[in-house]
Amino acid sequence: MSELPYSYDAPVSQALFDRASAVTPGGVNSPVRAFRAVGGTPRFMVSGTGPYLTDADGREYVDLVCSWGPMILGHSHPEVIAAVREAVSRGTSFGTPGEGEVALAEEMVARIEPLQEVRLVSSGTEATMSAIRLARGFTRRTKVIKFAGCYHGHVDSLLAAAGSGVATFALPDTPGVTGAQAGDTIVLPYNDLEAVQEAFHRHPGEIACLITEASPGNMGVVPPLPGFNQGLKDACQNNGALFISDEVMTGFRTSRAGWYGIDGVRPDLMTFGKVMGGGFPAAAFGGRADVMAHLAPAGPVYQAGTLSGNPVATAAGLAQLRLLDDAAYARIDEVSTRIQSLVSEALTKESVAHTLQSASNMFSVFFTDRPVRDYEDAKAQESFRFTAFFHSLLANGVYLPPSSFESWFVSTAHDDQAVQRIADALPAAARAAAEATAA
Ligand code: PLP
Repeated sequence: MSELPYSYDAPVSQALFDRASAVTPGGVNSPVRAFRAVGGTPRFMVSGTGPYLTDADGREYVDLVCSWGPMILGHSHPEVIAAVREAVSRGTSFGTPGEGEVALAEEMVARIEPLQEVRLVSSGTEATMSAIRLARGFTRRTKVIKFAGCYHGHVDSLLAAAGSGVATFALPDTPGVTGAQAGDTIVLPYNDLEAVQEAFHRHPGEIACLITEASPGNMGVVPPLPGFNQGLKDACQNNGALFISDEVMTGFRTSRAGWYGIDGVRPDLMTFGKVMGGGFPAAAFGGRADVMAHLAPAGPVYQAGTLSGNPVATAAGLAQLRLLDDAAYARIDEVSTRIQSLVSEALTKESVAHTLQSASNMFSVFFTDRPVRDYEDAKAQESFRFTAFFHSLLANGVYLPPSSFESWFVSTAHDDQAVQRIADALPAAARAAAEATAA
């Protein structure tokens, strides 16, 4: 058993974690799942229905992670499952073109006006990696601007996030990323247009593209200040660089047309994942037709994938997107607002300093009384309070992201009963946060 203070009773999960740790680094296939930020035993889930997950010990949780965004209709939605069954019954992969991928691309293009063409891939990481390669190939330039605290998958050059000074050439954040790979990445503080202007000024004719989360959710939820995204777009346009809006998290979640549907700023390229795959590995990048025309086989920039446009994944994604009409988004927005109010009320009652931030139906709580505008602000919160808050909720059947630097996600399936369960668990969690002390 783990020696951490929060290793309370989850014996089957713990046994599975021990088995996993013998054959998989850290016992998980994606680091945040290991609970390292909060300690304790990661819960191994065995099933999901609607807003609930059930773990290997037979405990049920209201799920506020929703597989990190994709499960926007809740788990095991009957129509998505039916579409998957129907697709599987015809075979699982052909390595040829198929109608499902055309239909999914058509649905996406119909929803997002600047998305003239898309290329399907299998993960958000592949989408951002390919979009950057395309931007470099199109502009024949090398440098990329990204923002500290924005996550775009584990693309080598985009893992550089250290340093937030103006035009800082980032050092690699992880061994295995070479200085050369990180050296073409300029990391700037989020929500700081002046830093962007200065970077373009210092590197005339060198910057291929700027990539930003359309509305960041990977340092907790830190929306762009009014005019920020338009300022980015203008700076790119004035300097011959492409503006890439990463909508892997926000796409088809924050509205029918993702964050573009909210702020209307036209990117040159966009990236997608999560919701568009309906819980399967499907992602995409796309945008201006004249830029996409540079992609193989139409153009010289190479990009490919054995499972790209997989028939089962595209069937799931299409079924999910077709169910996401305006009424569905209204429902998700409403439930998100209710949960935010409950969280804030509970924390206020226990006099816990906090700031709730939201971007449409995405939200997170920061344990600070100051607004969080960038990564430095996010890091300044009292994360130890989150740890106590998280574990109290977990013990009482509410599954939060196991880190204070993540968005919380809800779905159309989060009904009154699920919200009531959260409401019932919150007072004890707020008390735990109030009583927590820094280690
Ligand atoms: N971009 C953003 C904004 C993300 O949130 C993520 C994943 O969380 C990615 C890219 C990478 O996607 P994936 O995990 O599918 O590779």
